Amino acid sequence: MRGVILSTRPHVVIIGGGFGGLSAAQALVDITLIDRRNFHLFQPLLYQVATSSLSPGEIAAPLRGVLSKQKNARVLLGDVVDVNLNTNAILLADGAIVQYDFLIVAAGAQSSYYGHEEWRQWAPYPKSIEEATEIRHKILYAFEVAERISDPVSRASWLTFVIVGGGATCVELAGAIGEIARQTLRNDFRSIVQFQSRVLVFIQWAFQDLTFSRGARMITGTTTTDFNFNKEIAAERSQPNAEITQPAGNAQR
Ligand SMILES: Cc1cc2nc3c(=O)[nH]c(=O)nc-3n(C[C@H](O)[C@H](O)[C@H](O)COP(=O)(O)OP(=O)(O)OC[C@H]3O[C@@H](n4cnc5c(N)ncnc54)[C@H](O)[C@@H]3O)c2cc1C
Repeated sequence: MRGVILSTRPHVVIIGGGFGGLSAAQALVDITLIDRRNFHLFQPLLYQVATSSLSPGEIAAPLRGVLSKQKNARVLLGDVVDVNLNTNAILLADGAIVQYDFLIVAAGAQSSYYGHEEWRQWAPYPKSIEEATEIRHKILYAFEVAERISDPVSRASWLTFVIVGGGATCVELAGAIGEIARQTLRNDFRSIVQFQSRVLVFIQWAFQDLTFSRGARMITGTTTTDFNFNKEIAAERSQPNAEITQPAGNAQR
């Protein structure tokens, strides 16, 4: 798709088809919406994909379908790599150039690991379909391994899920993992006994004690440093196979 895409009338180019981009696309002007994905993702429900309550298709909607009745809007699949403010031109990864009269950048945010980018490989954050399904795999795989282990200590280790961070996503994930362990899967496994699994939530501080149900336990006053935790947490971490996921926060892209 090399070359210049000309618009004959003044038009607005929007980068990103998330909540922000789609809201902006309601404007009554000529719009080109560019996104590297051709679907809108309802991120607040990603934790349910991560915990097997929903399938990815249930929280994703094709951008073309969303805007199909809006004849002033068109959708382009493309990864924006640069914007030239002098020439009003957007450069896509495949070399295509898109001209604009007005530009709205609604490219969203990305997850932050607070300077520990190396944690991302072990502990995905549920920010995209890929990351949510990776978490889902980790959780279900842990149950599968535990089912085949006879040593109770090792099994308990595989059934220990650690979440670092105390935000809304943490609470949602903690509850959902507990629910999987205690309700959804309780009839599907023979070796794993109900209430054997546990969810540990490590957070630095909290305004008040959060009450978790379904087997989740909050451990406050803990600073996570390279997954070498303070004394109490180190004791919890003595189980080396514990699954770790990391809902810690967002940083602006
Ligand atoms: C697990 C989770 C739970 C949440 N729960 C809530 C909640 O309960 N309530 C609430 O209000 N908010 C919640 N949020 C936050 C909310 O989802 C975000 O604030 C919102 O999605 C941000 O919208 P946005 O349009 O700014 O960005 P996004 O929705 O991230 O959209 C950005 C779009 O830009 C595209 N894009 C990015 N870079 C490029 C590029 N270079 N080229 C082309 N396209 C690009 C992306 O593909 C994406 O489609 C939650 C978020 C998460 C992750």
